Amino acid sequence: MVVPSKPVLIVGAGFSGTVHARILAEAGFHVDVIDVRPHIGGNAYDYVDANGIRVHAYGPHLFHTKNRAVADWLRGFGDFVAYTHKVRARLPSGAMAPLPINLDTVNLVFGTHYETAEQVAAHLARVALPIANPANAAEYLYANIGRDLTDLFFRPYTKKMWQFDLEDMATSVVKRIPLRSDRTDTYFADDEIQMMPRDGYTAVFQRLFDHPGITVTLNTAFDTAMLADYRFCFNAMPIDAFFDYAEGELPYRSIRFHTRTATDAQAQGWSVTNFTDSGPQTRETRWDCLPHHIVNETGRRTVTAEEPCDYRDNNRERYYPVKTADNRFQEIYVKYQSLAEKLSTEISFIGRCGTYQYLDMDQVINQSLASARRWLATQS
Ligand SMILES: Cc1cc2nc3c(=O)[nH]c(=O)nc-3n(C[C@H](O)[C@H](O)[C@H](O)COP(=O)(O)OP(=O)(O)OC[C@H]3O[C@@H](n4cnc5c(N)ncnc54)[C@H](O)[C@@H]3O)c2cc1C
Repeated sequence: MVVPSKPVLIVGAGFSGTVHARILAEAGFHVDVIDVRPHIGGNAYDYVDANGIRVHAYGPHLFHTKNRAVADWLRGFGDFVAYTHKVRARLPSGAMAPLPINLDTVNLVFGTHYETAEQVAAHLARVALPIANPANAAEYLYANIGRDLTDLFFRPYTKKMWQFDLEDMATSVVKRIPLRSDRTDTYFADDEIQMMPRDGYTAVFQRLFDHPGITVTLNTAFDTAMLADYRFCFNAMPIDAFFDYAEGELPYRSIRFHTRTATDAQAQGWSVTNFTDSGPQTRETRWDCLPHHIVNETGRRTVTAEEPCDYRDNNRERYYPVKTADNRFQEIYVKYQSLAEKLSTEISFIGRCGTYQYLDMDQVINQSLASARRWLATQS
């Protein structure tokens, strides 16, 4: 008698779980996907609200990448439109400055009239502090843009975002934000591919799951007893929760979203405004300024402001792993990693919370394509 091979369990219907599910199903495996939430898409989930506006439930998700193979793979599951993301920072004066910092930002802050990148680079070199090997985010910024720009654009923002001072944060947290000396005012200018799904991310997830080998069950939390029914499990749940916090908690920053209706339909040239003040909110998104986000014209618009908080104060909604300069939480994660290695070979932790790293969507897709294909290569 031929024993039918057991299916594969995937925990999490976000990008990491969904990409694994699709690749395995295309290779002939039956895959059961579970998610504790009532919807697919993980943190990239979006929906159309009562104002007829598409809203991203967990903050604005802009797809940008240098990885053409990832973009081409994703384009197989929906129509994408080109979109160039722009952000403005509201200064204490009320002026709106381009972010990342560029030539016009420097002119606005210092009252200068520079016309060339060389002039701005020379200005920044003059105000930069001589710190050869920055040990934390503050030192990195001081060494590149000096005190004034650091304290205006990064100090209060970092404090409300992370609840830590710049001196306590790893340089990697601010190194992700480019610094420019020309007039480039697009946020992801360094990424050659920037695009948005024309019909939203949720529609892309529906297409990804549309395969006879995939069964999705929502409102279902992982339980270790489930493992007995499966040949393997790819698991995107928080790794510390899987091990019942045996090595302590891995902290995250979370966000409370405050969404309101706006009746001023006037278009602005950017979708996200960052707040440089020390109030509780970090930024606000005008969804109608993203492409194809006015789905039904009602004359009303939707705006969402973000208020960062500890994940324990927000129903354990985990958004950003906390990276401090002393690496203390990464050291706890390494302990969980070695516990995971000691488990049987039938489980693999994937995605943002499974590997305790901040990952953009393209990185998660890239890692998941590679991980699913590696696993397939080990199956006879
Ligand atoms: C505010 C914010 C803005 C972002 N903006 C961008 C952006 O502009 N561009 C970009 O590229 N990336 C952005 N990202 C990152 C993007 O959200 C991630 O790359 C992506 O969501 C990671 O997918 P994932 O599968 O690893 O995790 P998730 O999307 O979080 O999916 C994991 C899923 O697992 C489920 N789960 C967890 N525990 C269990 C359990 N015990 N049982 C069952 N299910 C469980 C969760 O409910 C969740 O649905 C942003 C992230 C945040 C938080």
